[in-house]
Amino acid sequence: MKITVAIDGYSSCGKSTLAKQLAAALNYSYVDTGAMYRALTLYFIRNQVDIFHPDQVNNALNNISIEFKINPKTQQQETYLNGENIESEIRINPRVASVVSEVSAISEVRRFLVKQQQQLGKLKGIVMDGRDIGTVVLPDAELKLFVTADPIVRAKRRLDELVEKGQATTIEEVLANLEKRDFIDSNRDDSPLMQASDAIVLDNSNLTKEEQFDWVMKLVNQHIGSSTN
Ligand code: C5P
Repeated sequence: MKITVAIDGYSSCGKSTLAKQLAAALNYSYVDTGAMYRALTLYFIRNQVDIFHPDQVNNALNNISIEFKINPKTQQQETYLNGENIESEIRINPRVASVVSEVSAISEVRRFLVKQQQQLGKLKGIVMDGRDIGTVVLPDAELKLFVTADPIVRAKRRLDELVEKGQATTIEEVLANLEKRDFIDSNRDDSPLMQASDAIVLDNSNLTKEEQFDWVMKLVNQHIGSSTN
């Protein structure tokens, strides 16, 4: 019996790490919706799409195709924009991080991506992470998690990741970006980031990745058990 797992929460809470661990352990598919918003934002930046001009936005959406493919060497999922592998660029390009939340607040953009995410989520055996998965994209998911952590802890984790990828930045810059994105994501009119009423809160400020994984796997097993009854 396969279920659907929806993981939402603040920026850099380790949602995708958790989602990947779960998908691998359960042999489920993983859909990183943040990567889809980042890919679309990269297209907008490269093509100088003016987000205040609906015609430009709609025209851009007609020209965007986003796919995920598994890299056979690493077995990791990578994001493609119109056939180009942009996985690394969407993670490290500071322009993407700086404008992705403004782009994601546009209703046409959300409608465009939510439709694709719902299509991907039709089959059971999916772990999907983002900001509106339990509330809007997959409201019928059997297990919904809302992940949070202390902002300083999150900024340190994100800084470590960026430094590892060779990006020069500071904790202040990273923290400012996280807080800005959280604010815009939580306050936009269209499908803001919020906890679904039936989501379970996971504060991982003081948990290792392994402790978090074990905690969530217990919940998953309970839900798989109750879905078969
Ligand atoms: O998850 P990640 O940090 O990569 O997401 C980047 C941005 O994409 C978020 O800050 C948010 O603005 C947007 N996003 C969203 N809805 C989702 C996933 C991401 O608005 N489901």
